[in-house]
Amino acid sequence: MDYILRATAGEGSVRAFVACTRQTVNTAFLTHKTSPVMTAALGRTLTGGALMGCMLKDDQDILTINIKGDGPGGGIIVTANNNVDVKGYCFNNLVDIPLKSNGKLDVSGALGKGSLTVIKDLGLKEPYVGQIPLLSGEIAEDLTYYFAVSEQVPSAVALGVLIDRDYTVKQAGGFVIQVLPDADDRIVSALENKMQGIKSVTSMFEKGMTPEDILQDILGEFNPQILDKINVGFKCGCSRERVENALLSIGKEEIDDIINTDKKATLHCHFCNTDYEFDEECLRKLRASM
Ligand SMILES: [Zn+2]
Repeated sequence: MDYILRATAGEGSVRAFVACTRQTVNTAFLTHKTSPVMTAALGRTLTGGALMGCMLKDDQDILTINIKGDGPGGGIIVTANNNVDVKGYCFNNLVDIPLKSNGKLDVSGALGKGSLTVIKDLGLKEPYVGQIPLLSGEIAEDLTYYFAVSEQVPSAVALGVLIDRDYTVKQAGGFVIQVLPDADDRIVSALENKMQGIKSVTSMFEKGMTPEDILQDILGEFNPQILDKINVGFKCGCSRERVENALLSIGKEEIDDIINTDKKATLHCHFCNTDYEFDEECLRKLRASM
């Protein structure tokens, strides 16, 4: 089972979130049948969304990461709640572009230039919206930039997805380490050194390390304390009832129009790739209930 550790270190001056998300990302791959580069792009964004979902305070809060790019992948949408149910999809699942010169999947090439927007619906009148230009397109660097610019919190973000030969997900996970304003300079420079020594988060998982091991490896000398262990999964909250409500909201005239012309309607949930079919009888029943 995938999970995220929520921890502090350095007497509360550092907060850390470490996630393993292999099953979550593999479910996304099985749901959307993504090509390897898009599995990596979506998987990194899902992992980032799950980590940021853990930072939400209330049960009703919802976080959305919306990436738009001019590359062949087009973009990605991911949402998470604080429970951490996470879901997402890409605009084009089947991008196939050459590997980068270092042999890695070219996520930034698939996304191109564009923007990354974080929307937090905290139950207030207006949602919080923070937007940055997509600078690297590798997602972890972009979220680091987002935290620095939009939330003014210096952060180290690592996200990784390793794809197996059969295109399933072999490893996936990541972490966010944030330094609070009262942190000792000694901690800041030690962390910077530590980050430079890390090859990739998937290489740590490949060595058999757990999120607990990764937390200890990065923050061991600053006495990390685990506060919480939160289960993570790819889960869509859609249902036939919700889709019916969406259909009802389009109005009587529109429904009459569908009944008289197409005689059926199909509503598609992009997040979990599910079609909801409504035949003429269903539509007439819905119409009668209005
Ligand atoms: Zn759905």
